[in-house]
Amino acid sequence: MPTIPGLAVHAAGAELLPLKYDPGDLQPQDIEVRITHCGICHSDIHLIDNDWGVSQYPFIPGHEVVGTVKQVGEAVSHFAPGDRVGIGWQADSCGFCEWCRRGEEHLCAEEQRTCIGRHGGYADAIRVNVRFAVKLPEALDSQTAAPLLCAGISVYDPMRAFGVNPASRIGVIGIGGLGHLALQFARTFGAEVTAFSTSPAKEEEALALGAHRFVHSRETKALRAVEGSQDLILSTVNAEQEWGAYVAALRPHGTLCLVGVPPKPLTLSALPLIAKGRCVCGSGTGSPARIAEMLDMAARHRIGARTESFPMTEANQALDKVRKNHVRYRAVLVN
Ligand code: NAP
Ligand code: ZN
Repeated sequence: MPTIPGLAVHAAGAELLPLKYDPGDLQPQDIEVRITHCGICHSDIHLIDNDWGVSQYPFIPGHEVVGTVKQVGEAVSHFAPGDRVGIGWQADSCGFCEWCRRGEEHLCAEEQRTCIGRHGGYADAIRVNVRFAVKLPEALDSQTAAPLLCAGISVYDPMRAFGVNPASRIGVIGIGGLGHLALQFARTFGAEVTAFSTSPAKEEEALALGAHRFVHSRETKALRAVEGSQDLILSTVNAEQEWGAYVAALRPHGTLCLVGVPPKPLTLSALPLIAKGRCVCGSGTGSPARIAEMLDMAARHRIGARTESFPMTEANQALDKVRKNHVRYRAVLVN
């Protein structure tokens, strides 16, 4: 049985080291994909550090995968060796529960995450249930599309869920991997777009990516100036924030939606929510059907990640740069 080489983390916060694993027999519903590109999502860093207490070591991180199909299981139709596909946060689900049958597989209680209890995309190859591989539109470039598989869908799905349209006013907190794609999608949906960022140096690029306005989020005055102005604010930040200031920035019936994972529980006053019928919620990834829709929209509207590429062998250096918030705007590992 041929083994799959990759780069694995063996303990919380440790450097990646080479690991070869035996994937076993190819299951009838599975495909094996030869990986060409894999984005580095900040969730990989949360998993490497075991921030969420769910990491299972050793594991190979990576869940923004693009590659070509190498082999297919005996029950797989519609996919053939050579097809270019993308794989995101999810690798499998039960297929039979209420949520799977509704086409909301990402809500399945038995979902399998691509790099939790399995090996992910910082590797030569990966296997997933074929239902979680999506064919890439030809117009998409593999490197700039890889980050769409997690970062892209994670900001696109809530915009679709909340019906973002040309009358919407959308705020995006944190202009990193997720945030810079959120600016592009929100602008393409026709919304008025505000970027909230701790990095004034990103202002010019944020405006070029689709923001109409840039707010330096460390300036209390600047946050005050946008009170009551936003219908939907997506927080893509993995850090503590002045949550009260963002609730105050919402219009009546406005929603603060968390996609980034802050380290501590949120503390919020009830009255500003009650008085204006505001809502705070969360959103995680999206279904395979939504991913396909998002890729199609990205292809037609030329949406893609701004990337910095690193050879797969330099994954540790790339991770270090992501940790320092020095990447503009997504690091992508290339085989
Ligand atoms: P990223 O590329 O590192 O970007 C995060 C951005 O947050 C940074 O670029 C920075 O933007 C801002 N930031 C960083 N430190 C900050 C601080 N101390 N205070 C305020 N802002 C800070 O990360 P990412 O890959 O976009 O992921 C972001 C978060 O989303 C992570 O928690 C990740 O786990 C989560 N995530 C969730 C989903 C989901 O399905 N819900 C999917 C993927 C990722 P500025 O420089 O503009 O301030
Ligand atoms: Zn991710």
